Amino acid sequence: MLIYEYKLDGNKQQYAAIDEAIRVVQFIRNKCLRLWMDTRGINKNDLQCYCAVLAKEYSFARTLNSQARQASADRAWAAISRFYENCLNHKPGKKGYPKFQHDNRSVEYKTTGWKLDPDGRHITFIDGCGIGSLRLVGNPKQHIETFPLKQIKRVRILRRADGYYVQFGVQAERQIEHTSTGSVVGIDMGLKVFYTDSNGNTVANPRHYRKAEKKLKRLHREVSRKQKKSKNRKKARQRLAKASLKVQRQREDFARKTASTLVSSHDLIAYEHLQIRNMVKNHKLAKSIHDAAWGQFLSLVKAYGIMHNVPVIAVPPHYTSQDCSRCGERVKKTLSTRTHVCPKCGLVMDRDENGAVNILAKALNEGTLGHRETHERAS
Ligand SMILES: [Zn+2]
Repeated sequence: MLIYEYKLDGNKQQYAAIDEAIRVVQFIRNKCLRLWMDTRGINKNDLQCYCAVLAKEYSFARTLNSQARQASADRAWAAISRFYENCLNHKPGKKGYPKFQHDNRSVEYKTTGWKLDPDGRHITFIDGCGIGSLRLVGNPKQHIETFPLKQIKRVRILRRADGYYVQFGVQAERQIEHTSTGSVVGIDMGLKVFYTDSNGNTVANPRHYRKAEKKLKRLHREVSRKQKKSKNRKKARQRLAKASLKVQRQREDFARKTASTLVSSHDLIAYEHLQIRNMVKNHKLAKSIHDAAWGQFLSLVKAYGIMHNVPVIAVPPHYTSQDCSRCGERVKKTLSTRTHVCPKCGLVMDRDENGAVNILAKALNEGTLGHRETHERAS
């Protein structure tokens, strides 16, 4: 699935209509969840049928396109099945019992309820929500109108801190001609630098991280200093939301460029399979920014790997930083030991580079054991 995003340009009334549609989605999702909580043995199909019941019962629910209503029920089911899965897999800690949602920010249409102008400049929503026709503002290089309509599988409207956006989900596989470079690489993700590869090259953390971190901290403080429910607090929250959005975009931009360069210049990439989720927990803002960036970066590397037909292999994270990459001797290190010094064979190497070499070796030796992941989202 490729994602094409545009900003939406409309008037106040239209934005209010979008807000209302978003509220209806949340209403249906929460109603479905309620039904599941109150009734034993409810399945996905029951929730789908319940949509029709809700549409009959509530006139405002009826205004939303029927496929969009179903998509809202599917959201409830996604939360429920995630919870079931966590229980089945005996996931440690909280199982994520589904919660009622209060902050929904999107509405998803499928193949009906909207019309795209042949020139790709406007989209019109034609269900009862009254959103009407909106102008599409985006990168002039992207042309959603060039895809056959039946390949556009979903149209999602999102509300962000700086306005309304639309994302088109297009069913297409993007294949890129990969020029073989004969080079294989292992990467070790770190805190000091973004990553170190098995050839000793490093990619530094982007400078805007630190700057953004400071700014976000200050804005957080401002929000908490303002009186609850006051106008000023609302304004401060808005400023924080905008700044966070900017950081997200810079992060994505950096991740996309770095991942694209990495994949197009190698024939195989090995990385360490880290439990990103566990890493984010209980950490300071700085660390969590990095963790989120790694997660995003790795999924982009996988996505580009699929496009370029370059294998991207995850290896289990056992002793990759401890073992000597030349002789295999286990050399214990603390987190602060930055250099690997092997007492057996005398190898002296940067800690992360040694790790990256081990990661690559693992992927090459146990290539069949390391699992190759596929990823849905490649845009
Ligand atoms: Zn050694």
